[in-house]
Amino acid sequence: MIEPAQKSTTESLLAVHHRDRQRRQVLLALLVITFLGGLFFGTLNWMRGIVAAAVIEFAFAAFCVVAYPFVRRTRRIHVWALAVALPWIVSVWVVVALPAAASSVFIWALVLPILLMFLLGRRIGLGLSVVSLLGAMAVALHRFGLPRNPDQIAYTANLIIAALAILVLSYVYERAREKAELDLRYLAVTDTLTDLPNRTLVYENFAGMKALALRQDKPLSLLLMDLDHFKQINDQHGHDAGDQVLREVADLLRKRLRRSDQVYRMGGEEFLVMMPDTSLDQAAALAENLRGRIEALDLRFNDQSAPLTASIGVTQMTAPEESFDTLLRRADQNMYWCKARGRNRVRAS
Ligand code: GH3
Ligand code: MG
Ligand code: MG
Repeated sequence: MIEPAQKSTTESLLAVHHRDRQRRQVLLALLVITFLGGLFFGTLNWMRGIVAAAVIEFAFAAFCVVAYPFVRRTRRIHVWALAVALPWIVSVWVVVALPAAASSVFIWALVLPILLMFLLGRRIGLGLSVVSLLGAMAVALHRFGLPRNPDQIAYTANLIIAALAILVLSYVYERAREKAELDLRYLAVTDTLTDLPNRTLVYENFAGMKALALRQDKPLSLLLMDLDHFKQINDQHGHDAGDQVLREVADLLRKRLRRSDQVYRMGGEEFLVMMPDTSLDQAAALAENLRGRIEALDLRFNDQSAPLTASIGVTQMTAPEESFDTLLRRADQNMYWCKARGRNRVRAS
């Protein structure tokens, strides 16, 4: 398994990005629906002479027009989600309270849990849903009093049960959706064979490490490891044996490296390690240690031993303007130097 710390940073980076994009789309759609609904009901209520409701509805439509360009661009999507959701809640309460409004307006309160859970996530969404439903019920109770005849009792019971069902279902749905989204995202950035991160996030994570290294004035090193004559393992012992070797190497890297280090399977039989707060000398010593451990692995397939070695190129960031590509190229050159000198060695520069 991946180190929990590493797994959670990867997951949270991705999760925030995608969740915000999804919420932005829901919010924009909501603004359009609210605008159209506001115009329609505002006009309708104006014609029916229910001026208070009409004014609220027109104000809502106007707010949507103003908010739309902001919501498209904002990076603080949760603030805008609240800015749209809270007036929604309050206006549902107001509309339920208005003596002139039909008693069926209570149905709008049922939309709230779905909306809130979508926009604000299941925790805040659930909390606000409960508050908004209780509020709407209190307002309705104040306006209509307790249900008296069997018809009213049945009507009220139906509403309450429907509200509860919608509340629970949207919560369960949102939880499953969040989990599925996270799983999917985890799979997208993970190599399923070794359970190591694949190269998808390497640039983004390097940028973060580099910024921290520069701010704290600490060294930053990376190493590139390529297994030697790996094709021979596949050829002699089969592809499954090759896969098993890759998993063993991944395990070894995970066990040996620090929590703060990040290891990636870059592709094929090539691994990259980024090491914050590590000088070139320290990184070279670590690489040498890894090389020795790989050489010492006692791999056997069908009682045949399969010797394994690796060539490792190491480098350190020496100037703030050095990009990931620059460092990778230097590590790669060092690694190929090892290959040319007979493999199973380390070179650092
Ligand atoms: P060198 O020492 O020059 O690196 O030789 P090499 O054989 O390791 O390098 P080469 O690039 O010629 O071959 C790499 C091999 O790695 C070829 C490919 O079949 C194998 N390989 C890549 N990905 C996987 C994988 O996921 N599973 C298995 N079993 N083999 C893989
Ligand atoms: Mg190789
Ligand atoms: Mg290779």
